[in-house]
Amino acid sequence: MLLYDTYPFKLPPLKYSYDALEPYIDSETMYYHHDKHFQTYIDNLNNVLKRYPALQRLTLKQLLRGNFSLSYEDRVTLHNNAGGVYNHDLFFNGLSPKGNGLYANSLSSLNSNTHLPQGELLAKINCTFGSFENFKEEFNKEALSVFGSGWTVLAIDNANRLKIVTLKNQDTVVPKNLEPLILIDVWEHAYYLKYKNLRAEYLNAIWNVIDFPIK
Ligand code: MN
Repeated sequence: MLLYDTYPFKLPPLKYSYDALEPYIDSETMYYHHDKHFQTYIDNLNNVLKRYPALQRLTLKQLLRGNFSLSYEDRVTLHNNAGGVYNHDLFFNGLSPKGNGLYANSLSSLNSNTHLPQGELLAKINCTFGSFENFKEEFNKEALSVFGSGWTVLAIDNANRLKIVTLKNQDTVVPKNLEPLILIDVWEHAYYLKYKNLRAEYLNAIWNVIDFPIK
């Protein structure tokens, strides 16, 4: 995870192969999304930080929280690219091949299908949304409503309540003081090669490879 790293940031390797999420997410999309798009956010973030030595010891979260006296253009570049790195790190870490959830595999008491929420998280989802099916429906509705590029996130607030939030472009949940649990990228680059304009089909498919955190 990059969240506690500092400059120069490096692309974290995928924990699975490019084709491991087929047929839900195709390998060409995974390759371009991880090796090209994610890499570009990393490069652009490093490029802006190169000119500000005082910011080079800060973690991603500190960079996203801070209010630094930079030129307007550099502030926008920092915001967009630090956000892009933060969101993509969580996104790729939050996916795993179907039937092979990495979180649950580390816990011997759970069975191998972690593509469903379990334990405390499941109880919280049922309590907040009525059922897992209702939750997915509400989440996908929010994700479909994002106009242009952005993210939909299941997060937990300071009072330990679940919330579905949508974010524009590469905004993050950091300034909202929310802990992200599940992030889904709804930029077209996340699905266009396979699903073209059909964001709803991508949103239905991706739940097969979401690696639910054990909370
Ligand atoms: Mn993306």
